[in-house]
Amino acid sequence: MSQTLHGIAVAGGIAIGRVALVRSRRRDVPHYLIDAAGVDAEVQRFRRARQAVGERIQQMRASLPPDMPADVAAVLDVHLMLLQDDAGAQSVERWIRERLYNAEWALVSDLDEVVKQFEEMSDDYLRERKADLEQLAEHLLRWLQSESGAKAGEGSAAETPPEASALQVLVARDLSPVDTLQFRRGMFAGFVTDVGGKTSHTAIVARNLGIPAVVGTRRASAAVQAGDWLIIDGDAGIVIIDPTPAELSEYRFKQRQSRQEAERLAQLKNTPAITRDGQHITLLANIERPADAASAVDMGAVGVGLLRSEFLFMGRAGKLPDEDEQYAAYRRAVEGMQGMPVTIRTADIGADKPLDGHVPLRRLNPALGLRAIRWSLAEPEIFLTQVRAILRVAAHGAVQMLIPMLAQLDEVRQTFALIEKARAQLDARGTAHGPVRVGAMIEVPAAALMVRQFAQHFDFLSIGTNDLVQYMLAIDRTDETVAHLYDPLHPAVLRLIADVIAEGRSQGKPVSICGEMAGDAAMTRLLLGMGLRHFSMHPSRLLAVKQEVLAADTEELADWADAVLASDSPASLLA
Ligand code: PEP
Ligand code: MG
Repeated sequence: MSQTLHGIAVAGGIAIGRVALVRSRRRDVPHYLIDAAGVDAEVQRFRRARQAVGERIQQMRASLPPDMPADVAAVLDVHLMLLQDDAGAQSVERWIRERLYNAEWALVSDLDEVVKQFEEMSDDYLRERKADLEQLAEHLLRWLQSESGAKAGEGSAAETPPEASALQVLVARDLSPVDTLQFRRGMFAGFVTDVGGKTSHTAIVARNLGIPAVVGTRRASAAVQAGDWLIIDGDAGIVIIDPTPAELSEYRFKQRQSRQEAERLAQLKNTPAITRDGQHITLLANIERPADAASAVDMGAVGVGLLRSEFLFMGRAGKLPDEDEQYAAYRRAVEGMQGMPVTIRTADIGADKPLDGHVPLRRLNPALGLRAIRWSLAEPEIFLTQVRAILRVAAHGAVQMLIPMLAQLDEVRQTFALIEKARAQLDARGTAHGPVRVGAMIEVPAAALMVRQFAQHFDFLSIGTNDLVQYMLAIDRTDETVAHLYDPLHPAVLRLIADVIAEGRSQGKPVSICGEMAGDAAMTRLLLGMGLRHFSMHPSRLLAVKQEVLAADTEELADWADAVLASDSPASLLA
């Protein structure tokens, strides 16, 4: 009998495959599949970790002061004994060899199984060894991660996924955005998580990968076993475990249909985005990494409206990219866009995109804490480094700089002062730099309500509806328990967006939306009617939105949008 779970649909399409499972609570561990040819190297990496941790424990054991209680030495002895247990090590290595898990993932998967067995034991002494095992695993993980941190930027094994894994679907309790970034190029056919909301960054990155995904299922990771067959319906937010033959053939049919639809849309790629009444609409791409520029061009984007630069700073054990590394990365994006403009958002670190190992990860309310421009202003040297890299790359193409999470006019003043300082530093060094248009993200309600004053300082505005909705409605965008209340069509949200668009237009400043709303084809007509002319979205959404643009008449839509804005229940008018 199959079992159906319901979650939140975040990335459309149908995926059918066997389960690869991340059940561990240790969400900071990287999870990726290695290339079959890389198995031996990965096993060696695990063995090096065992060796290094063993040596470290032996050193500690040897240098214990004589007055140290005997218990301490006994604990170290137990750790050493567990570490030298070959059966345990072989068990971890089996996860690497048989399932192609990276060493960290193999280690925590094995640990979860062993811990479960320990918990079932009646012997108190043995039950307590569970804590020793967990501590030992932490040592090994720390070693493995510091080693990969040192190698960050060199490209991981995940860059060349094995063909055989293409039909695996990933099921996890939770994934970090960095985890999701590792799943490049067809590594998994789809994924499912227990937690998360529609606009969580994990969901956004998944959508950019173009693979079907369902989040917020609450219990998928407990309900499946590694290797189970699974269907993911990323349009309906449904997950079917152990599907029946009839379900499998129904979903294979749907899969073929959606491929045909994608082929049909592909024909619009080179069609200019002009409405029936002759309005030119700018369709831009949101990207996370410079290499994504290729898919933006491929889908017919006319520029990048949002490069989420913070992904360059994450997943590297807190070792930040220096000016040259950032410059090289931005330059790849600019060159990848073949002369089209690129908007680089300064680092939006914090909230659900913490900087591992650098700032405290756990705060009570991270979304309201030190994130984005607040973090940059608190770390002026890091910000200056980034701004210098952006100014330098502007010597090679059309580059815009976008500032996230502004809420105070004083932040605007400080930001511009630092941009000027960065320019002066480059001049003093004799380093070439170019002109950069600077834009403000409007994603905090205070900034939206004061848009008249904010707009005066900037060349353009970009509305971050993901955060604007979260802050207006007091809904954590990553929390699946309130996801049903996360409503971009709330009358207050629409009113504020309309006001920002109108103010930008009256000051002659271009306004775009770069939140997920811009890529939702069901919203395109409404946003056009509200006067929006610049949309920035994940490349996979561009053609569906373009199809709506081509069929639209903005004059007709303006009257209808007024009626929607005046309604108590806008969603009912959108159907
Ligand atoms: C937004 O908030 O709408 C946005 C585009 O930024 P991010 O999703 O990266 O917070
Ligand atoms: Mg945002």
